[in-house]
Amino acid sequence: MEFCITNRCNNRCVMCSNPAEFNNPRDSRAYGYNQLIKRIEDCADRLFKSRESINLTGGEPTIVPQFVQLLNWIRKEFPDNEIVCVSNGRMFAYDDFAKKVLAVENLKLEIAMHGHTPALYDEITGVKGGFPQAVQGLKNILRFRNDSHFVETRTVIIKQNYKKLDGLLEFIYKSFRGLNAVVLIFHELEGQCGDHLKRVGITYQDVESEVAKSIRKWAVKINDLRLYHFPLCALPSDLWPHAWRTLPATEVSFPKKCSTCLYKKYCMGIHNDYLRLIGDKEFEPIRSSMGAFKMSRGQDFIYHPIVAVKNTSKS
Ligand code: SF4
Repeated sequence: MEFCITNRCNNRCVMCSNPAEFNNPRDSRAYGYNQLIKRIEDCADRLFKSRESINLTGGEPTIVPQFVQLLNWIRKEFPDNEIVCVSNGRMFAYDDFAKKVLAVENLKLEIAMHGHTPALYDEITGVKGGFPQAVQGLKNILRFRNDSHFVETRTVIIKQNYKKLDGLLEFIYKSFRGLNAVVLIFHELEGQCGDHLKRVGITYQDVESEVAKSIRKWAVKINDLRLYHFPLCALPSDLWPHAWRTLPATEVSFPKKCSTCLYKKYCMGIHNDYLRLIGDKEFEPIRSSMGAFKMSRGQDFIYHPIVAVKNTSKS
């Protein structure tokens, strides 16, 4: 269950999926500490019963003044629910802050790493000097983490970085040992990302060869290398085990032609804003067998249906 805990951010990412008016410093009414507690308490029955994750989003959650206090309150009240926090990681550059957060058990941290040089990082995040903080922040997280934590990097693929994925994955692999997963996410064309379509927008066709090259090279070294928000026909079949179904059903559609696709039941579909702004021309139903697959079962099938492809030919 998701709780947006702030509308403020210390970055200005060019592909932010929040609307431009979201980051309004004058509008902080819904985000006072007591209101946050009340919003979570109101969902207590469901959280106790389902034991689902409590996802803290923003804005940038870690700049909420009582962030550590909030984490400790959630941990105490909901000891069985994983706490998930998406963050740009910069606040973790402060040792004391990182230690306090990582003292909270059963925490999943999804840390943004959109560029691997100060220039690229600043160009994408719109803030000068954030890169060394983000790097130090992630190093501190890995320094203070324990086995109850899950730590991953998240890179949104956009025009500015899609040709640099090889260097970026090399940087992540060499700089951050001890990550649980490395995630590459195709941009969602909503909020400011959609507003900045000309500046940041790419198609699946644009990125396919760069993504394939980089994943094939780095999957050998990076244990859990994932692709989020990719329909299957936008990828060579040997990359399908890396594809996760990560968008809610309400945000995706299957165009009419998908009805003849043999792999529809394993596919995430296409984001509605992509269909609206770019269209469905590049997606072609797969009409012949792509070989034998190893499938996941139960709950895992929903998010990660294909875990291995035995035959790697592409139609
Ligand atoms: S044709 Fe449609 S169902 Fe088939 S892989 Fe592409 S997007 Fe998915």
